[in-house]
Amino acid sequence: MGQIAYIGVGTNLGDRQENFRRAIAEVRGIADTKVVSQSSLYESEPHGRARNWFVNGVIGVETTLEAKDLLKALQKIEKTMGRKRETEKKSVSRVIDLDILFFGDQVINSRTLKIPHPELVNRKFVLLPLSELAPAFHHPVLGTSVSSLTVSTQDPTKVMLFRG
Ligand code: AMP
Repeated sequence: MGQIAYIGVGTNLGDRQENFRRAIAEVRGIADTKVVSQSSLYESEPHGRARNWFVNGVIGVETTLEAKDLLKALQKIEKTMGRKRETEKKSVSRVIDLDILFFGDQVINSRTLKIPHPELVNRKFVLLPLSELAPAFHHPVLGTSVSSLTVSTQDPTKVMLFRG
C-alpha cells in the first residue's frame, strides 16, 4: 500500500482534451503507480501572461515511489509531450503541466520540490477539481479541508466545467 498523491494537470496549447487524455495514459505507465481517480475537466481563464484558456483537472494516484521520483517521472512526461522549458517562461502557454499537489500528508520543502504545492490555495482551477476527489482531505500544513479552501479562495479568475 503506497501513498495517495494528487496531480494537477493543465494544458492550453493544441488539442487540449487530447493532451489531457494522453497525459493520463502516460501517468498510467509510471512504474509502481496506479491512477485511482480522475476529476471532471474544467476550462479556466488564462493566468500569468498566457493567452489561451486552459483545460485543467486533477488525478489521484496510489504510488510506492518517493515524491521526488514521481516528480522525475512527471517531468519526463512533460518532456515527451513536447513541453519546451527553455521557451516556456513561467505561467505562459504549455502543452502539458503536471504538478504534485499533495503526496499523502508529507510536507517537503526542497529546492526542486515543494509539497503541498505552494500555489494550490490560490488556484480555483486546482481547488475545484481537487474538491471533487478529496473534499475532506486536510492540507497538512494549514489543517484546513480542501472543501473549505475551495470556498474561501480569493482567486477571481473564471473557472467552469469543460463542455468539449
Ligand atoms: P512549472 O514551470 O510551473 O511546471 O514549475 C516547474 C518547477 O517547479 C520544476 O523545476 C520543479 O522542480 C518545481 N516544483 C516545485 N514543487 C513542485 C511540485 N509540487 N510539483 C511540480 N513541480 C514542482
